[in-house]
Amino acid sequence: MSTSSREACNLAPGLKKLLYDLVSFDTTSRNSNLELIDYVAQYLGSFGIACRRVHDESGGKANLYATIGPENLPGVMLSGHTDVVPVDGQPWSTDPFSVMMQDGRFFGRGTADMKGFIACVLARVPQMLEKPLQVPVHIALSYDEEIGCIGVRRLLDVLQQLPVKPAMGIIGEPTSMKIIHAHKGKQGWRVSVHGRAAHSAYPVEGVNAVEIAAELICHIRRIYSAVPEKGPIDNAYRVPHSTLHVGPIEGGRALNIVPDLCEFSFEVRHLPEETSQGYFQQVVKYAEEVLVPLMHSVDPQTGISFEALAGYPGLCTVQDSPVVRFIQMLLEDTDVPGKISFGSEAGLFGEQVDVPCVVCGPGSILQAHRPDEYVDIAQLSDCWNFLGRLLTHLQTKALPV
Ligand SMILES: [Zn+2]
Repeated sequence: MSTSSREACNLAPGLKKLLYDLVSFDTTSRNSNLELIDYVAQYLGSFGIACRRVHDESGGKANLYATIGPENLPGVMLSGHTDVVPVDGQPWSTDPFSVMMQDGRFFGRGTADMKGFIACVLARVPQMLEKPLQVPVHIALSYDEEIGCIGVRRLLDVLQQLPVKPAMGIIGEPTSMKIIHAHKGKQGWRVSVHGRAAHSAYPVEGVNAVEIAAELICHIRRIYSAVPEKGPIDNAYRVPHSTLHVGPIEGGRALNIVPDLCEFSFEVRHLPEETSQGYFQQVVKYAEEVLVPLMHSVDPQTGISFEALAGYPGLCTVQDSPVVRFIQMLLEDTDVPGKISFGSEAGLFGEQVDVPCVVCGPGSILQAHRPDEYVDIAQLSDCWNFLGRLLTHLQTKALPV
């Protein structure tokens, strides 16, 4: 028997099937996730566990929330997003929606980010029922995380109304089972530069939207270039400061027409102790005080508008808080909890419903979003064992305070 099949055999019964089944649903964010949610609801229902679905406006997607154990006590929330990033244009060696096991790894879209974690949680449901839980477990699954933590906000609205909210949460994003207590926040904007068209032989008659956009983009670069010197700096992050970045840009119709419209988007990823607003205001100030007057000198109908895109707050759960100490104890991890540059829903749970969260899950973010995404079987085992220790604790003891 190869090492990988031995490791797979050591996996809990049911875990492998759950992972295979969850990955088989193509829950790319543009698609509905209802089939997966129905599957999970049916699975939980087979154990007599009721769940609540919180749909999006169209009814085509849903969050799921279920509590196992005493409903009148705040418990531990295990949370994951059900959507995955697209595989379009990626050179996959196998079918991304059909798990393949090889070399001690499970390959497939979402194996690391983050259906592996969800499979571990669901596979632990029988243990949750074996002995009465003194402290409840809440399972929270969301949609549209990958496009800006959009879906979970509806679930947060519902949580806000509940008489009892979770005491703490674990967001199972892939961190190689390391405990993460802080991450950066993010906010994006779309900028529309409305110029005036003219024949390119008479550029003075027009307002060149592409050139104005280029000037604004250069200013965004200037703002960013000052950050490493000005700070704040936190060397616990791979990029130890806030960043600004310009993404897609589109403008102009033909070379012989002065472009009347140029649109681009940019984002700020900020340390949790900062906000994105300070950076945004610098961009707006330059637009309003330097560029718009220039544009108006030709045509007062021209202008620059900003539209906020999706964003999420940073996460900064106190290092000495009960949730961090508790999870560290269960992980038998004595390292200082880490900080990551990528985001999660954890900050939203903290900011909007006051549920302190950490991020901790199987697999590596380096494999997420890539072709041939995979999770090490050993990582799933670690997560499985960690959840086992968590449940044993919740079945015998109270939560630390
Ligand atoms: Zn994720």
